Amino acid sequence: MSVVAIVGRPNVGKSTLFNRILGERKAIVEDYPGVTRDRNYADVTRYDKPFTLIDTGGFEPVSEVRMLVQMREQSQLAIEEADVILFVMDGRDGLTPSDEEVAEMLRRVDKPVLFVVNKVDGDKQEEQAAEFYSLGIEHFFVTSAEHGRGMGELMAAILDEL
Ligand code: GDP
Ligand code: MG
Repeated sequence: MSVVAIVGRPNVGKSTLFNRILGERKAIVEDYPGVTRDRNYADVTRYDKPFTLIDTGGFEPVSEVRMLVQMREQSQLAIEEADVILFVMDGRDGLTPSDEEVAEMLRRVDKPVLFVVNKVDGDKQEEQAAEFYSLGIEHFFVTSAEHGRGMGELMAAILDEL
């Protein structure tokens, strides 16, 4: 079965997105980073296409450097075991150095990587997503995992890659 992995910094909304795709609440969403202690797995079927969805996390953001090391490890695992990678960033926080570093790593991967700018809850926040173009990525999925915005387009892209 195809594997879709969600990676990204703590608190960008990975677990919220996981739950949103699942259509139910399985992963714990917290206002504090690092709450997904372990990895959450779920088998999902959409439009007759089954896949396994993985929500990563499981670390405390002790420091920026430590977080980056963990993100690299997390992304490396996803690169190894996933067929499709969702790299989630935070449209409210804007682009961070760790996003840039991991995005650079993922750009070189020979697997489909979907770049997601989350927490864009309304049209007003849409322009905040513009700075992410400096990553040199052609297409972003602009979402609000919390409110379901942009999920149709993202879901269609995931299914296309399976
Ligand atoms: P994770 O650490 O990446 O798994 O992030 P979580 O899913 O636990 O979410 C972290 C925080 O961001 C929680 O307070 C969520 O409610 C919030 N959040 C997640 N997605 C969105 C979104 O689309 N918009 C807004 N405004 N908040 C969000
Ligand atoms: Mg989480």
